[in-house]
Formats: sequence, C-alpha cells, structure tokens
Amino acid sequence: MIQSERQRRAYLDALGIDVWVPRDESDVPADEPVAHATAADASDWVGLEQAVSSCTQCALHQSRTQTVFGVGNRAADWLIVGEAPGADEDRRGEPFVGRAGKLLDEMLRALGLDRQSVFIANILKCRPPNNRDPKQEEADACRSYLNRQIELIQPRIILAVGRIAAHQLLGRDDPVGKLRGRVHRLDETPLVVTYHPAYLLRSPSQKAKSWRDLCLAAAASDMRAS
Ligand code: URA
Repeated sequence: MIQSERQRRAYLDALGIDVWVPRDESDVPADEPVAHATAADASDWVGLEQAVSSCTQCALHQSRTQTVFGVGNRAADWLIVGEAPGADEDRRGEPFVGRAGKLLDEMLRALGLDRQSVFIANILKCRPPNNRDPKQEEADACRSYLNRQIELIQPRIILAVGRIAAHQLLGRDDPVGKLRGRVHRLDETPLVVTYHPAYLLRSPSQKAKSWRDLCLAAAASDMRAS
C-alpha cells in the first residue's frame, strides 16, 4: 500500500521509534522448509468457521465465552499469528483487541496496513484460563484450523508475533531474540518472527528491533513470486 514517507515517519514517531533501517533484499536469508500436519476437515471458510465455533477437541471449550476465529482479509498478503485470545478477545470474539492489539494496529499502520487488509489469527482459538501459556496438547488440537486458514489465505508472508507463535509455527524452542531478524519458511511461505506487542509494551526499547522485523517481512513478501 502506498503512503507518503512523511506519514510513515509520523506513525513511527507516535510509536516512539526513531530508527529507520531499510533492508537490502540481498540481506534476506532463508531457512529450510518446515513441514506441518494435516488440514482441518473443512473445505471452505464457512465450513471452517463452523468447525471452529463448535470445536470440543480440547478442554478449553469448557471455559471459553466464544471461539476467536481470526479477522481480516481472507485473501491477505500478510497473515499475523499471535498466541491465544485473552480476556478481551474471549469477550469480543476478535483477536488482539486489548492494549497489545492497539500497538499491533499502530505497527501495521506504519507499514501502510490495517486490520482489514491483513488477516490476524492465533495459535489457539480459545482462551486459556488466567492467561496461562497454551499447553502443547491444546496447540496440537487447534493446529489443523490454523493450517487450513493458511491454505485458504495463501499469504505472501506470515508474521509470528511472540514466543508461542514462533515456537509452534517453526517447531523450535529458541528464544525470540534468536529467531527474529531472518526469514524462515513454513512450507513455501516466508515467515518472520518478531516480539509480541504485549512484550513491547513492557519493553518499549525493543520497538526499533520489531520495526526492523516488519521491514524484513515487507521485503520478504515482495520477493515472493505471485
Ligand atoms: N495476544 C495474542 O497473542 N493474541 C490475541 O488475540 C490477543 C493477545
């Protein structure tokens, strides 16, 4: 999306980011593909939404207010993947609607993107109680839904925000600081890891690094053949 350099600077200023580090495409390294499990038993978006909203595959269905399917453009170039719904998301049925979500919106806006132009989803579609980390069996039970979303969207870039999303998508357990700053692949799709916006709210000094990750993701999405 086209926007003026002045506008971009204004958003970055508002985010408290005063570093602009354009990346040369030749800086973008790539990892080996990582294979992942089966798609959900749903052939289209309607079937997939129904399968998610009636899911009882893990214990989280007992405590959820509602499932949080994901939101945005179903033909998006960018797929943003977070961890799991929190209390606000469980109430509203939409991912990233709390403070962290507002920061995510600001960062997307700095790239000329918004909630309507990207697709935002989570590793888990249901809220873990007391905002605890997802259990592995919950992530496994939910994985086919995300895999099917990826198949249907066919994004040009996946942005994994935070440790849980990065670990689950890449099948690795390195710290985010080690996984960020380069282009991984999920099957054929480029994948970039960055810090979770909730972490950035606690550690604003890391925002500049996160902005560099977004620029790297933008470069990687442009490089992918249509
Ligand atoms: N954090 C996430 O990872 N996802 C959400 O939807 C909200 C907060």
